[in-house]
Amino acid sequence: MLNKILGGLYGQALGDAWAMPAMLRPEHTWERYGGWITEFFPGPSDHPVHHSLHAGQITDDTEQAFSLAKEFIKDGKVTPEGAARGVIAWYDMIDGDNTPYVGPSTRKAVSAIKSGKPLEETGKNGDTNGAAMRVSPVGLIHPGDLEGAVRDAHLSCIPTHNTDVAISGACAVAGAIAIAMVDGSTIDEIIEAGMKAADMGRKFGYTWIGASVSRRIEMAVEIARSEMRDREKLQELYDVIGTTLAIPDSVGAAFGILAMADGDPKQCAIYAAQASGDADTVAAMACAIAGAWKGVGAFDQEIIDTLLSANPDYDFYGVAEGLLKLVEV
Ligand SMILES: [Mg+2]
Repeated sequence: MLNKILGGLYGQALGDAWAMPAMLRPEHTWERYGGWITEFFPGPSDHPVHHSLHAGQITDDTEQAFSLAKEFIKDGKVTPEGAARGVIAWYDMIDGDNTPYVGPSTRKAVSAIKSGKPLEETGKNGDTNGAAMRVSPVGLIHPGDLEGAVRDAHLSCIPTHNTDVAISGACAVAGAIAIAMVDGSTIDEIIEAGMKAADMGRKFGYTWIGASVSRRIEMAVEIARSEMRDREKLQELYDVIGTTLAIPDSVGAAFGILAMADGDPKQCAIYAAQASGDADTVAAMACAIAGAWKGVGAFDQEIIDTLLSANPDYDFYGVAEGLLKLVEV
């Protein structure tokens, strides 16, 4: 179990850091790197938000996932209050007021939380992918338990992303991870779990505008399994599904990439980086699912060494052990 939890955490970080230097459009990423991104690169100087990051460095996705996980571990459970504390601790740690990569929903919610608004209100306008990108620890503590993953993913969304569409996306990722944690689960079962969890999660939160996450996952997986060549599939994911901050886009694309890579964490990272757009978030979600499925043994030692040395403040093993204690046996 610890092996799979650690795989999920390393997957989250691998996708995030690997795809962080991708450009906004697939053709620009291809031109910039002369083909597939096959190693960790620093954020390019002309990147709108990742220009100051060094090779292997994680971004807000993984930073928040860890910050929230630590609060859940402290509390012994997932609560909206713990999620709020995690988001605020992260925001203050990175000096969010002066940091370009804070997402739009999270920035609004942080300001509302700090002004003392009740948590039921602070995430009312959160309709982008900021809750899904950080939700992996919630899936990791619910092996085989789709209902539990959905319930806790919903709670983790409340302070910042309390809308039906955002909760649906977060539940899709958490639900897929919960089933990926089961020994012997198949990639099709994981995708199906993501779609089911998306529909379950869509019943929560304030009503907002958003396409069906489960239908987008279905479409993305169809593209992934079509007869096109890999780069054409990724272009199709970019053009038809989208790799934007919108939840049905980026979560759908993440499942498409998971299917394309057949659940291999590094291949997910390579594909998601080439799919560009909000690549670090798409990759973080796809690779967290893949990492939980395959376990830590699927990662090259070189990748783990880079993630550890590039992110010295992040205790992967310690957080994995803490999460293991939250797994209801
Ligand atoms: Mg990010």
